[in-house]
Amino acid sequence: MNKNSDFIPSTPFRYFYFIIKPYKWWFFGSLFFIAVAAATVQGSSYLFKFIIDAVETGNINQAFFWGLMFPVMTFAVQLAYRIHGVFMTKLTHQTQYDGMDFWFNHLTKHSHRFFSDHFAGSLHSKIKNIVGGTDQLIPNFAWIFDYLVSFFVSFVIIFSTNTTLGFLFLLLLGTIFVANRFLSPKKFQLSRERADALSGLSAGTIDILSNISATRLYARFDYEKDRLNKLNKAHRQAGLKSAYFTEKLFLINAFILFIFSVGMFWLMLTKWQTGIISTGEMILISSLLFNMSGSFLHFGNFFNSVAKGMGEIQEGLDTLLTPFDLVDQTKAKGLVVKNGAIEFKEVSFSYKDHLIFSDFNLTIPSQQRLGLVGLSGAGKSTLISLLLRQYSIDRGSIMLDGQDISVVTQDSLHEAIAVVPQEPILFHRSIRDNILYGNPDATEEELISATKKAQAHNFISSLNQGYDTLVGERGVKLSGGQRQRVIIARAILKDAPILILDEATSALDSESEVAIQKALHQLMRDKTVITIAHRLSTLREMDRIIVLENGKIIEDGSHDTLKNFGGLYQKLWEKQAGGFVGE
Ligand code: ADP
Repeated sequence: MNKNSDFIPSTPFRYFYFIIKPYKWWFFGSLFFIAVAAATVQGSSYLFKFIIDAVETGNINQAFFWGLMFPVMTFAVQLAYRIHGVFMTKLTHQTQYDGMDFWFNHLTKHSHRFFSDHFAGSLHSKIKNIVGGTDQLIPNFAWIFDYLVSFFVSFVIIFSTNTTLGFLFLLLLGTIFVANRFLSPKKFQLSRERADALSGLSAGTIDILSNISATRLYARFDYEKDRLNKLNKAHRQAGLKSAYFTEKLFLINAFILFIFSVGMFWLMLTKWQTGIISTGEMILISSLLFNMSGSFLHFGNFFNSVAKGMGEIQEGLDTLLTPFDLVDQTKAKGLVVKNGAIEFKEVSFSYKDHLIFSDFNLTIPSQQRLGLVGLSGAGKSTLISLLLRQYSIDRGSIMLDGQDISVVTQDSLHEAIAVVPQEPILFHRSIRDNILYGNPDATEEELISATKKAQAHNFISSLNQGYDTLVGERGVKLSGGQRQRVIIARAILKDAPILILDEATSALDSESEVAIQKALHQLMRDKTVITIAHRLSTLREMDRIIVLENGKIIEDGSHDTLKNFGGLYQKLWEKQAGGFVGE
């Protein structure tokens, strides 16, 4: 399904139509067969009248004929329901598939800011709500249609038998419909609150599970249990409120049905007594009313389910349809980077109203190795984020080889830059897949050459399953240093002209430290490099160091110059401990 995300309707009904539109004939086909089934079920009540009338007049042949028509019609009803079932199953499975495909695709277009603002768990449950809600709506619409057809056919039969009884039946239908229609917005609201609470609970659970080792190391299980308990209680509360409301609705329907049934049966008996309707007709109407009594109650149920599905869809749409805050221009071209020269020109940027850079200028010539140093909060990570266009700048421009990064496609920008993040996180896939992420087309030789340069080949080969070892969620089965070398191998395979390195501040064991330095040395060859540098050994390798303070460059020069300059760099350098520059 190829849907343009700009045109996603933001209300559940329209969204529903939008998602089933390509398969509307399956939907209408399914409604047609359910209508045939419903009409046949109600129509077959006539058989009772025919059988009883035939028995009363002593016509045994006719009684046999109508009696045998009963299994024939029952089979016809089942056949129609099964054809409806095939259409419906095809439709629900297809829309589930399309929904997952479509929403995952849509989600990836959101910016870094959006993902920083929303929990992964909560986003997952929003997608589940929309897809699940649609899945729930499709059969419920079909059942509502089934009931409407049943009501209509019953009304026609009762009305043609006796007008007064027909009107009374119509009044019953109207009353049930108005009551359910009137109460469904409240149910919609309650369902939405329940879906909201469920999203919160999922997000909270995933947050704790992702931080499970911190929870264990700080012995904070009780604290986390309490936190989760609050979300769990809120979910239970919202669920109960919604379910109690459903019970109330059922009771109201049952009461309406009770009042009208008393009236109809009384009227019917008096008309039978005076000979206005025959015994067969009385049985016919009684059987229709009996058939319909379940439907009357469940009509409210389906109203509820539709309201619930719509509430869930709305809850998901509200978040996922937040406008994209960073999109490629319609005519954006691909970035072409040969030399990797970087220039920040008069750049200003703030997070909401927190100003970070104002008229910031920095030129990094091709293949220069630049170390970024500064106290925590100086703006080092933000500078990198801006270069990666994770945020749009307020003023100025950032140029790569003379091309403004705001007018090129984001994919081409990201292809030109390899990033080794501070926290090396891996996919729970094999080591091979994790490394090939840098270049899925690399040959086995290229893969092994990259891992050798990254000083990772030996440790990978010593694992039981070598390159096919699964690394565990986020890569937990490897040590920090090993994970970092896997990420470096990935970056070597990517072979992008620009390299961004956010050095780990945590101390590694000395063997990893040496291995990583060797790996980085290989990685940095012939590249323009920006490093948020903490290690003395890395800083020494840099051609140039800039020191940032409150978003401004306060020192700029080589390591040798700055270490005697008498500024912040010298202070940090002199306080060095364990090979790291303190922040
Ligand atoms: P550094 O990397 O030098 O430690 P950062 O670039 O992370 O500094 O942060 C610079 C300033 O911007 C800090 O005051 C920080 O609190 C703020 N900041 C960083 N990220 C965000 C964000 N996503 N939203 C709002 N403020 C942020």
